[in-house]
Amino acid sequence: MAEDLPSQPVQADTTKDSSAPAEGYDKKLVISGPCYVLQDEDISCFRDIKPGAPHHYLVVPTKHVGNCKSLNKEHVPLVKQMVDVGKDVLQKNNVTDLADVRFGFHWPPFCSVSHLHLHVLAPVSQMGFMSRLFYRLNSYWFVAADQLIELLSSKGETN
Ligand SMILES: [Zn+2]
Repeated sequence: MAEDLPSQPVQADTTKDSSAPAEGYDKKLVISGPCYVLQDEDISCFRDIKPGAPHHYLVVPTKHVGNCKSLNKEHVPLVKQMVDVGKDVLQKNNVTDLADVRFGFHWPPFCSVSHLHLHVLAPVSQMGFMSRLFYRLNSYWFVAADQLIELLSSKGETN
């Protein structure tokens, strides 16, 4: 799977592997572009540089938490918060049909980016063939946000 985090607006080194110490992660994100994006203490959101749909955003936690395989139950609130931010950004960009959206994560090792990032795509009905394949729900390389939350909730606290 191709690298899909924007390389331009983000000042962080996303090539670091997930075992790198969290302190070494550069939190500063520079956000640009015509769309509404946001950054707060916990979560940042920006446009994907290779949009797979008219609206395609990436929601990332500011703190480095690894990828969705390294998450567990305690990360459920974070994942939910990321989904909320994604919905908020869609609505602020006038996407009103929240049934025609896709929220999901690339499942390792099919994503070369080790920093957890939620893909938010809309409208699904306008996604091309390749995008549908790349962001296919519940394939073995892409997991829907809802499903990840369910999966994490069923995990034990300590794995
Ligand atoms: Zn991805």
